[in-house]
Amino acid sequence: MLTVEEALTKITETVRPTIIEQRTIVNAIGSILAEPIVSDVDSPPFEKSMMDGYALRATDCQDGATLKVIDEVTAGRVGTVPVAESTAVRIMTGAPIPDGADAVVPIELTSFDESTNEVTLTGVKPGGVGQHILPRGLVMSKGEQLMSPGRCLAAADIALLAELGREQIAVRGSTTFAILSTGDELVPHDAVPGPGQIRNTNGVMLADQVQQVGGTVAFAEIARDTREDLREKIATGLNCDVLCLSGGVSAGKLDLVPSELAAAGVEEVFHKAAMKPGKPIWFGVCNKDSDSPTYVFGLPGNPVSSMVCFELFVRTALRQLQGAEQVKPEMITAKLTDDFHHRSDRQTYFPAHFHFANGECIVRPVNWKGSADLRSTIDANASICFPAEERNFQAGEQVEVLPWSGPIRG
Ligand code: AMP
Ligand code: MG
Repeated sequence: MLTVEEALTKITETVRPTIIEQRTIVNAIGSILAEPIVSDVDSPPFEKSMMDGYALRATDCQDGATLKVIDEVTAGRVGTVPVAESTAVRIMTGAPIPDGADAVVPIELTSFDESTNEVTLTGVKPGGVGQHILPRGLVMSKGEQLMSPGRCLAAADIALLAELGREQIAVRGSTTFAILSTGDELVPHDAVPGPGQIRNTNGVMLADQVQQVGGTVAFAEIARDTREDLREKIATGLNCDVLCLSGGVSAGKLDLVPSELAAAGVEEVFHKAAMKPGKPIWFGVCNKDSDSPTYVFGLPGNPVSSMVCFELFVRTALRQLQGAEQVKPEMITAKLTDDFHHRSDRQTYFPAHFHFANGECIVRPVNWKGSADLRSTIDANASICFPAEERNFQAGEQVEVLPWSGPIRG
């Protein structure tokens, strides 16, 4: 059986990044950048004042000095009179520094006499070439690479693209998902279950997980444990970039998913990984060498198994599809709050709650009763990854943690 690490490697080796498309920057928030962004300007493009005040020669910056005010520049204007010795130009924040000036004194340290048109400096420290001046090119210079492909674009990134005058940029295309919850026992979550039936919880959970990582759910259905129903719905699901099935992948009599996927032409890449929960995980690919392959995950039916397998495996596939910089899951290290006895022959992803306190990441395992226990996950926002062994972990020990997608719960 593959280790989780080996299974993740199989996914990164199989999945190819999606096609690149052009998108306007106003529609690109959250997209994955697919080109390097290089500055074609110096920023700021001119030396500019960082204060409202007076531009002058640093040698005139003496406490009590009185200078003739010869001009005024506001943001968006350019001064016409050069600053000479014993003169100053009134200047506003963001305005270009006039020729001859090499320092700015803030307005708070001056008093202006209207009758003589002179300004007197009060409480200034002497000298200070460049004080309160943002030099040209300080923020970025022409030719400098600012962003690399694989970056998930945030609001400030879009603003920087606007500063560069970019209207369109190359991003990875969005990923469509089909979600197929399988099981004769399932009823829609808004229906009343009859004898032996349960509500479909995985359907809404997986749809939310897809949305939280920027994917689009194009198809979501319940399939019965019959070959006919599975065949029909798998065929529809294969029109998406990713098909996520839940249930029907373990060794039960009605676990028909692997054989029906094979019948639909989906090539198995792996089945089962040495982990808990999530051991029956299935992964394969359909139309591998075409322009539009479909990557298929058979997630185990128990809700916590489904969720953890999505976090580990489906998100890795999605990051690879989007050409992200970091493809495999990023684990963080956190300090255990309590002693914890762990025993398993499989690597275990134990639901836990982590938070930051006094600059440290702290993690507490929740009272989890196994892969069907969704109840305890409401207190959790991550999984602690315990190795396959029996050991008493001590409070204060450092452990590896996999944060779950979505808003961090405090
Ligand atoms: P399976 O992998 O199909 O054997 O399912 C394992 C367990 O998960 C069974 O108890 C199922 O009833 C349960 N289960 C499967 N699919 C779902 C679902 N979509 N929502 C809630 N529970 C499920
Ligand atoms: Mg089932």
